[in-house]
Amino acid sequence: MSTDRSLRYNFFNLGLTRKAKLTIIYSFLLALLFILSYISPMDDKGVYVSIVIFLNLVGIAGFYLQFPLAGRFRFIALFNHTDWSIPQHKKMGYWIGAIFLLHPFLILAPKLGLSNSDAWLAIRTVTFAPEMLTGLIAWGLFIVWIGLSIFRRHIPIHYEIWRLWHSLGFIIISILATLHITSVGSHGQLQSPFNILFWLLCVISITGTVYNYLLKPRLLKQQPFEVKEIKKVSRNDWKLTLTSNAQPHFKFEAGQFVWLNSNPSPYNLDYHPFSIASTIRQLPDISFIIREWGDYTNQIGQLSIGQTVYVDGPFGQMSLKDSEGAKGIVLVAGGAGIAPMLSLLNQLADNQDPRPIRLLYGNTSLDQMVMQKEIKGLEQRMINFQQTLVCDQAPDNADVYLGVIDKFVLEKSLPESALQHWSAYLCGPEQMIDSVCKNLVTMKMSKRHIYFEQLAF
Ligand SMILES: Cc1cc2nc3c(=O)[nH]c(=O)nc-3n(C[C@H](O)[C@H](O)[C@H](O)COP(=O)(O)OP(=O)(O)OC[C@H]3O[C@@H](n4cnc5c(N)ncnc54)[C@H](O)[C@@H]3O)c2cc1C
Repeated sequence: MSTDRSLRYNFFNLGLTRKAKLTIIYSFLLALLFILSYISPMDDKGVYVSIVIFLNLVGIAGFYLQFPLAGRFRFIALFNHTDWSIPQHKKMGYWIGAIFLLHPFLILAPKLGLSNSDAWLAIRTVTFAPEMLTGLIAWGLFIVWIGLSIFRRHIPIHYEIWRLWHSLGFIIISILATLHITSVGSHGQLQSPFNILFWLLCVISITGTVYNYLLKPRLLKQQPFEVKEIKKVSRNDWKLTLTSNAQPHFKFEAGQFVWLNSNPSPYNLDYHPFSIASTIRQLPDISFIIREWGDYTNQIGQLSIGQTVYVDGPFGQMSLKDSEGAKGIVLVAGGAGIAPMLSLLNQLADNQDPRPIRLLYGNTSLDQMVMQKEIKGLEQRMINFQQTLVCDQAPDNADVYLGVIDKFVLEKSLPESALQHWSAYLCGPEQMIDSVCKNLVTMKMSKRHIYFEQLAF
C-alpha cells in the first residue's frame, strides 16, 4: 500500500484517494448524526454534556464503519482492498476503544463535584439502573474484545477461531450499544428518526458480516477451483496451481491476492490469504508460492490433484497501473513476498516493458530462492531486467549479497540519481518493508511511488 495510491479511482469523478473517500464518508456520517442530535428536542444539558455527546458520536460513527472496513466485499470499491482497509480498521480501533473506555467516566465525572455521599448515590444510580444493563454489558465486552485484538498474537488460539469470535463479539456489542444509545441517557431522549438511523447503521454493518459468513460461501461453492499441480520449489516453499472451468469471468490484476479454502466445505472458516504468482495470460490456471509457516501452510503439500479449493477474491491494491508514468521499476521481495513480484514481473515481460526493471530478492538461505530458472530466463528475455539475490547464508562463490536488503544493497543495485522518477513494489515481512521503504525515501524516491503489501494482517 502506498500512502497515496488509487488516484485513478474516481469518487464522483473527483480523483480522490481511498483515504480521502473514507474520511468524507466518515465525516458525512458524523455530521448527519450530529445535526440530527442537535435538532432533536432534548433537555438543555449544557456545554460539557454536549461535548461528551459529540465525542460519543465520533466513536459510534467510526464503530459502525469498522465492519465494512474489516469485511471482504468485492462489490464495494472502497472496501475491496483488504490490504489497505484492515490497517485502517486497526488504527481506528485504537481511538474508538479509547473513546468507549472513557465513555462512562466522562458521564460520571461531573458527579465528582458533589459531596461524597451525593456523588456515590448518583454514581450508583447511574451505574446500577436496570436500563443501564445493555450499556454496561456492551462496555465490558468491548474492553475485553479490544484487549483480545491487541494481544491476539500472544493468545494461543487459531487465527480463524479468533476472527470468528472477533466478528461475533462485535456484532453483539453493536446490537447492545445501539439498544443503549436508543433507550438511555441524553441520546435516549432523541426521537424516532434518530433511533431509526442508528438501527439502520447497526443492521447495515452487521449484514455485511453475515453475508461474508453465510451467503458468500454459497456463491463460492458454485464456482470451485481444483488443484492442478502442487510441487516443492524450495526448502520450504510450494508452488500450487489451481484451475477452474466454473469461473470464466475470474479476472485479477498482477499483484493481487485471494483467500483460499481447501476444506471440503466452503462454510469452513479456514480461509488463508495468498498472493497470485501467475498472470492473467495463464488463466484459467492461477498459481501461488506458499511458504510453510504454521498449521495450515505446513500441510499444503498434502493437497491432492483434483481436490476442490474455494477462491475468494481477488483483493488488494498493488497494481502496475499506479506506475504507468514511472521511468523504472524496482521490485523488492522478502521470502514468500516473491509471489506477487513474480506476477508483476511476468506481466511486465508480457507487456514487453522497455523500462529498467530490478528485482531484489531476499531470503535467509540460498536454498529458499524460488523459480530461479524462470527468473534467469526473464533476464535474457526482457529488455532491461536484472535480479539481485540477498541472503544471510550462502557459499562464498555464490553470486549474492550476504545479509539483508539494506541501503548498501539498494545503492549497489539501483541508479540513485534517477530514483525520484522510479516506482517500487515491496512485499514481505513488516520489518523488511519498513526498512526498505525508509532507505528508498532517503535515496530520493517519493513515498507516493512506493507500493507495498505485508504478509500478515
Ligand atoms: C495479503 C496477504 C498475502 C499473502 N500472500 C502470501 C503468499 O503469497 N505466500 C505465502 O506463503 N504467504 C502469504 N501470506 C501469509 C499467509 O497468509 C500466512 O502465512 C498463512 O495464512 C499462515 O497460516 P498458517 O495456519 O500456516 O500459520 P499460522 O501460524 O496459523 O499463522 C501465522 C500468522 O498468519 C496470519 N494468518 C493465519 N491465518 C490467517 C488467515 N486465515 N487469514 C489471515 N491471516 C492469517 C496471522 O497473522 C497469523 O498470526 C499472505 C498474507 C497476506 C495478509
